[in-house]
Amino acid sequence: MFIELTQRLGWVGSVSFLMIVGVAGAWGWQVYMRQKKRKALLSSPFPEGWEQLLKERWPVYETLPDEVKKRLGGYTRIFVAEKNFEGCGGLEMTEEIKVVIAAQACLLLAGRELKKVYPALKSVLVYPHTFVAGGKGIFGGKYDEPSARLGESWQTGTVILSWHSVEGGARNIEDGHNVTLHEFAHQLDQADGVADGAPDLHGSAAKTWAHCFQQEFKDFLDQLDHGKRTVIDDYGATNGAEFFATATEAFFEKSAQLADKRPELYVALKDYYGLDPEQW
Ligand SMILES: [Zn+2]
Repeated sequence: MFIELTQRLGWVGSVSFLMIVGVAGAWGWQVYMRQKKRKALLSSPFPEGWEQLLKERWPVYETLPDEVKKRLGGYTRIFVAEKNFEGCGGLEMTEEIKVVIAAQACLLLAGRELKKVYPALKSVLVYPHTFVAGGKGIFGGKYDEPSARLGESWQTGTVILSWHSVEGGARNIEDGHNVTLHEFAHQLDQADGVADGAPDLHGSAAKTWAHCFQQEFKDFLDQLDHGKRTVIDDYGATNGAEFFATATEAFFEKSAQLADKRPELYVALKDYYGLDPEQW
């Protein structure tokens, strides 16, 4: 076969051809093995220790419907197995930290059947407390001064979190503040390449979303201008991306209030996430 190839392509062409075939084969094998591993993780039971840990650390876990809990379990396992977790600023990375972060991040995905879990995300960096960020901002903007941050989400595949804030956010499930949900909502928003508060939707779903979202954002800004109290955190007024992230926090942590005060936004988020936290 190699002789036939050399007659057709010459020596250099044949070697190049075989190298390409070799690389493609190795890549295909890797993809096949990764998918096989994911399938196994999705179907294997949630480790008992993790379940207990989540019950203690994240009270919302026990309130989840069984089917949501099941999907969440599989996605959490894939997340912990595939993402690179790194302790920064002296933090020692533990399984507990990984599971508490991964489970909360995967709640945003648990309403849908998925084969991949945050495919663009490579690393989660965790600091013990707030960390100081300066220079380039999350979306390429510049911070005027270095500032203390609870979390950041980068389009280049990194989420940075303060463990202190993650823990607090997981423990208090009704204050509308959860840095993990916030930063991972940014990851979903950034998946289409633009951080604008419009997650990766297509066709009529994208149009419906854009219409509802723009109207809701405008109403929210009007309310703030008139000094009214809002269910969504004021920080949402920063831009469309922050509105989506803070609305996500409210959706999961102040669901009844959000459904009451902003029913259309609640329904849009319910459809997008495939979840109905008001019923939990
Ligand atoms: Zn944000």
